[in-house]
Amino acid sequence: MNIILLGPPGAGKGTQSDLLVNGRGLVQLSTGDMLRAAVAAKSEVGIRAKAIMDRGDLVSDDVVIDIISDRLDDDDTKAGVIFDGFPRTVAQAEALDKLLSSKGLSLDAVIELSVDEDALVSRIVNRAGESSDARADDNVEILRNRLVVYKEQTAPIIPYYREKGALKTVDGMGSVEVVASAIASILDAA
Ligand code: ADP
Repeated sequence: MNIILLGPPGAGKGTQSDLLVNGRGLVQLSTGDMLRAAVAAKSEVGIRAKAIMDRGDLVSDDVVIDIISDRLDDDDTKAGVIFDGFPRTVAQAEALDKLLSSKGLSLDAVIELSVDEDALVSRIVNRAGESSDARADDNVEILRNRLVVYKEQTAPIIPYYREKGALKTVDGMGSVEVVASAIASILDAA
């Protein structure tokens, strides 16, 4: 089973992915984690990605598509994957469709975690206010930029999948358990 978890930064995609990895034996493919590993390894891709990621902008479609394509050739992904943080643009969604069909794979569900963006921002602003870390204010600005980037570049993939009839929306503002059980019902029916 291959699924996409969609939603703005802070929606809880990582938390829900972890639960699905443990509960269903799926492999999490987080392009954010893979890019952070490239940054830590100081690879050519990592060196180019770092400044872009630090601003909260998106790295180029080609880079992430290549990373995902390579990963889908690994044996451990055959049991099924959760795409987390990918696709993030319509071009990535289109490329993923082509990749999957060329590899004889398919998508079983696209799950959108819908959240109240004002609540996301106030959560991070409050955290910054409580923190003595001087970088906290920067983080608020970066989060705001990431939300703008999400709205402008990523949200258009929601209608893309809705038109294909693949989209399921879950209220992401519930507790971790409530969100997890809503996702479980969708996957059990898929
Ligand atoms: P989050 O904290 O929302 O889970 P991620 O860890 O998914 O964020 O991503 C961190 C950063 O990595 C993004 O802000 C972006 O710069 C880059 N990135 C991750 N996935 C992609 C992608 N699919 N396309 C372009 N850039 C990406």
